[in-house]
Amino acid sequence: METPEYIEELRIVGGNLALDFVNTMDGDPPLECLRGYRDLVAWSVRVGLLSADEGERLASETERRPEDAEAAHNDALRLRGALYGVFRAVAEGGDAPERGLETLRGYELEALSRGRLALGDDGFDWEWTDEEDLATMLWPVAHAATELLTSGDLDRLKLCAGCYWLFLDASRNRSRRWCTMEVCGTDEKMRRYVAKRAARRHSG
Ligand SMILES: [Zn+2]
Repeated sequence: METPEYIEELRIVGGNLALDFVNTMDGDPPLECLRGYRDLVAWSVRVGLLSADEGERLASETERRPEDAEAAHNDALRLRGALYGVFRAVAEGGDAPERGLETLRGYELEALSRGRLALGDDGFDWEWTDEEDLATMLWPVAHAATELLTSGDLDRLKLCAGCYWLFLDASRNRSRRWCTMEVCGTDEKMRRYVAKRAARRHSG
């Protein structure tokens, strides 16, 4: 399966699976990275939700079950829209939209009903292994979102001051403003530098 460039080069900087999923709508103007079911599979492989072999197998299902693949893609976009609304509101200190929470609750119910508890390296955790389920990657995403809302440090949830991506701020004093210093932080510094020079020229 070929990975499209926009997924290959997508920065994975959210610090949480659900936030990385939200950040698949990239940049300003917005660049859609999940343009079809195959993109959803490619992204899942990129973030390690699926192995390359699993990705290959699911991508090949697109031909055999095109309607199921399209439904899974639509479900992904619906989940992403709900998560963006909820997490952006929380990051900005507002109230999470009730509809978004209700949508997430529906996905989480579905996730838990399809998952199984399996023993991993750090004790038991949820696992999704249904090979027939084309939406299998959505369940860990929905579950990560629910866990972040219920047990995560929501005061660490931030909206990037440069590109409006969502990320978890792991810095000790919660002072991070950008998703990545190299990309958005540098842009911001450049803007300030240009503005300062312009101001100096006007005053001098
Ligand atoms: Zn950014």
